[in-house]
Amino acid sequence: MKVAVVGAGIAGLCTAAGLSSSGAEVIVLERASEVRGGGSALSLFGNGLRALESLGLRSVVSGARGVSPTLNGTRRPDGRWLTRFDPSAIEQLRVVRRTDLHEALLGRVGSGVEIRTGTGVREVRGGTVQLDDDTTIDGCDVIVGADGLRSRVRPAVTHDPGAAYSGYVAWRAITARPVDLDAAGETMGHGQRFGIAPLPDGHVYWFAAVNYDEGVETGGIGEVRERFSGWHAPIGEILEVTDPADVGVLPIEELARPLPTFVRGRCVLVGDAAHAMTPNLGQGANQAMEDAATLTALLGSAGMDVDDALRTYDRPRRRRTQRIARQASAIGKVGQWRSAPAVRLRDLAMRAAPDAALNRQLRRIQDWQPPVR
Ligand SMILES: Cc1cc2nc3c(=O)[nH]c(=O)nc-3n(C[C@H](O)[C@H](O)[C@H](O)COP(=O)(O)OP(=O)(O)OC[C@H]3O[C@@H](n4cnc5c(N)ncnc54)[C@H](O)[C@@H]3O)c2cc1C
Repeated sequence: MKVAVVGAGIAGLCTAAGLSSSGAEVIVLERASEVRGGGSALSLFGNGLRALESLGLRSVVSGARGVSPTLNGTRRPDGRWLTRFDPSAIEQLRVVRRTDLHEALLGRVGSGVEIRTGTGVREVRGGTVQLDDDTTIDGCDVIVGADGLRSRVRPAVTHDPGAAYSGYVAWRAITARPVDLDAAGETMGHGQRFGIAPLPDGHVYWFAAVNYDEGVETGGIGEVRERFSGWHAPIGEILEVTDPADVGVLPIEELARPLPTFVRGRCVLVGDAAHAMTPNLGQGANQAMEDAATLTALLGSAGMDVDDALRTYDRPRRRRTQRIARQASAIGKVGQWRSAPAVRLRDLAMRAAPDAALNRQLRRIQDWQPPVR
């Protein structure tokens, strides 16, 4: 089976590794001049780890230990707790540097996989991939669109709704040195939130989400310090020990509408190309890993031809990822509430809600098993 995978992000590399280990002839087409993980860090949950396991890729995060401290939940800017996670609900959580994950995935993509960098895909028609340099790749049995939010493959599958801006931007970085933490999680203020996630080496991955009109230019770390340094400890220290050069900022976007299908003919979408979601549940990459594991298992199933496998992939993946995307979007909206009455109401509701409900939601999302081959 000849497979073209468009995009060498997490979705593309996981899919390429999985399919090539099942014996497919895989070519990965990546527009960028090199394959590397952008951004700073990433949370992987039990479901993502199980997907990696099923792909034979669990070793790519073998260095990542469980998150410490285990005290984790949501706070107010003055440090008062609103909700807390049960440690057992996050015991499988791993926070990894994106560059490390990408490098490890690249190392595990078998030598049987050809990766062409600097190779942008313009469009896909039938079994043919048209490249930006006017050449084509023909005769593919399957074409996998793993080319992210602004996918060029998506229009070959369905009407493309495009990207929608969430109304907030996020700065993110990893501290330049370790910081002592007694707790992790998210802190919610008025129209702005701050998130803290410790890496196994004691450095801290942080993000700051702030309501912003679309297209308005954001400031650098100076603006983040101004907005958040007065919040509970150790947010000020975390920002102090962050190298300004390490800080990235981006508008938070998602797919404008859920897609009616992830599959058309022999063309299939995975990762953000299929279901780009806001990062409020930390599930975008985890879902990309699930996509890759599911596709690999189905295409490798004895007794299922390629068309059956793709049809079987479509519906359950859409239902699961679109439900998670909806939940993530709703969490982001409430988290970014700005007016004092709305924030008071939110904080009251969060304090009154039993932590058990939150923990149940987290467990339900992680409760995923790959299909049996
Ligand atoms: C602030 C933030 C925090 C996040 N935190 C988490 C988290 O903690 N946990 C989690 O699971 N997820 C998280 N996510 C989501 C996660 O980053 C994405 O869901 C994931 O990286 C998507 O991977 P992908 O491979 O589908 O897409 P991408 O990472 O977008 O990769 C697409 C690849 O395709 C290439 N490409 C694009 N167009 C073309 C073309 N025409 N031809 C060839 N190549 C092309 C690109 O260069 C790129 O390499 C977060 C996202 C954000 C924005």
